[in-house]
Amino acid sequence: MGESMKGMTRTHYCGHVDESLIGQTVTVMGWVNKQRDVSSLIFLVLRDRTGIVQAAVDKNSAFYPASKNIRMEFVVAVTGKVIARTPENVNPNMPTGAIEIEVTELRILSEAEVPPFQVADEGVAIDTRLKYRYIDLRRPEMQRIFEIRHNAAQSIRRYLTEGGFLEIETPVLINSSPEGARDYLVPSRMHPGQFYALPQSPQQMKQILMVSGFDKYFQLARCFRDEDLRADRQPEFTQIDIEMSFADEENVYAMAEEMMGRVFKDVLDVELPAKFPRLTWHEAMERFGSDKPDTRFGMELVNISEVVKSTDFQVFAGALQNGGSVRGINAEGCAAMPRKQIDALVEVAKHHQAKGLAWITLPEDGSIKSTISKFFDDDKLREIAAEFNAKPGDLILLCADTNKIVLDALGAVRTAAAKWKNLPLEGFNFLWVTKFPLLEWSPEDERFYASTHPFTSPLEEDVALLDSDPAAVRSRSYDLVLNGYELGSGSVRIHRQELQNKMFEFLGFTKETAAESFGYFIDALKYGVPPHCGIGLGLDRIIMIMTGADSLREVIAFPKVKDASCPMTHAPNDAPADQLSELGIMKIAQNDDE
Ligand code: ASP
Repeated sequence: MGESMKGMTRTHYCGHVDESLIGQTVTVMGWVNKQRDVSSLIFLVLRDRTGIVQAAVDKNSAFYPASKNIRMEFVVAVTGKVIARTPENVNPNMPTGAIEIEVTELRILSEAEVPPFQVADEGVAIDTRLKYRYIDLRRPEMQRIFEIRHNAAQSIRRYLTEGGFLEIETPVLINSSPEGARDYLVPSRMHPGQFYALPQSPQQMKQILMVSGFDKYFQLARCFRDEDLRADRQPEFTQIDIEMSFADEENVYAMAEEMMGRVFKDVLDVELPAKFPRLTWHEAMERFGSDKPDTRFGMELVNISEVVKSTDFQVFAGALQNGGSVRGINAEGCAAMPRKQIDALVEVAKHHQAKGLAWITLPEDGSIKSTISKFFDDDKLREIAAEFNAKPGDLILLCADTNKIVLDALGAVRTAAAKWKNLPLEGFNFLWVTKFPLLEWSPEDERFYASTHPFTSPLEEDVALLDSDPAAVRSRSYDLVLNGYELGSGSVRIHRQELQNKMFEFLGFTKETAAESFGYFIDALKYGVPPHCGIGLGLDRIIMIMTGADSLREVIAFPKVKDASCPMTHAPNDAPADQLSELGIMKIAQNDDE
């Protein structure tokens, strides 16, 4: 230890100085949360990551003059005797409020300029918080979040280690491969004009580790995706990446259920159910209009196509003739929803391509009102309402279009209506959503894409459909969903070369282009591959939900903002010309008019 400490070693954290230490001498170190000069004494409230404690410097103390100049956020070391505060001075709002430290020695370890905001200030704009993240992170709430994050990561590592998993690191500089999101590219100095990609996930690497004989792998892996940001998305994030050989979906479910159970118990002392409910993708869409439904509330979708099939209301009739459907939700207790709010729900539906919403209100007085009363008499409206088990006070929202549009729109309207109702949504509702469609049709590109990635195995009984009805092929995939968030996804992988080649072919790869992008992977599949499966769970999202934070930014120490920049380091920034030329990169002058 250097001269700065001179025998003053920290003996206690601020938050740990309690009544059991009365009469003892302690040394605490930390930031000055507050300095208060009451003329006979100077009070210093010190803060470290465990909490705060008050120290008092007497007027006659040799340290009194120095204390006078101490300001907020100075870093100091204080030694002194712990004394009980007089009853009238006890601060019930402060965990250490029954005691204080009578200062016998004080050292200023570093001075601080006036900070851009006070640590105690809750209302600071996010950009300012992130620019001075080191001050923001001093807030007790932030310290709590990162302690939870640490504890969760340790609990996960312990659980997986006990289960025989090996933590193996995979490279961050890899090859770029098509499919999936946009890659971050890193130029190569040794190979001018060529690029590494940062992994979107260690997908191929972990499968190759299975081929390599490591039958149980995990990694808290950093993943990179150059996508537009949202509150629940960051360009770099951490995935609990897991892969297992000689296993199938049931093994993954059991492992993930046990792991989540362990983490929630260890960290929050919350008991999760031993098994999580399961819905197929098809059921989730039909019932909730979402592949990641929040199942903490009902308002499930109801298909009323049969009930309205003989209508001459053109919007409904047209949708049904075109093979679509008429469905709705019962926004229970929302009959009194103001018109402006209903309009907002219509906008939500339109955002999902629906042309609009029709609605039926059942006011408390027992009457029935509707935007479609021109086409349906009261008896028919009541018949429709009965399909939703509606009662006075309810509001039914209806949508007619293609199945996809109706489901997407109502799924979003369901969530928005629940938000408006301000339902007390409590608890942790885990859910497996399984058997996603293997392929997704892109109307723009007029081709199919793999719904997750091209290594996902189709359901055995659907393989034959690959040629005749590809959109109907289901996959051996699963998502873990929690309270309306997708925590992560996984699948049983294709482990036979012929099927993998067929998949590549199907996705429009020629032998050559497949070899270019996945050559090493295709090669590996030739040399003995165990059946395997895995999952990647977003650690940041898990922590966000565990801590009740409202954005991923709150649970990542140094996150990016919306335009993917870092307000603290100013990354990304310009690179000097000589560095660029070394990399074989030429800067094209920006056109200011653009
Ligand atoms: N690599 C997948 C993902 O990042 C997860 C998996 O299939 O294991 O979504």
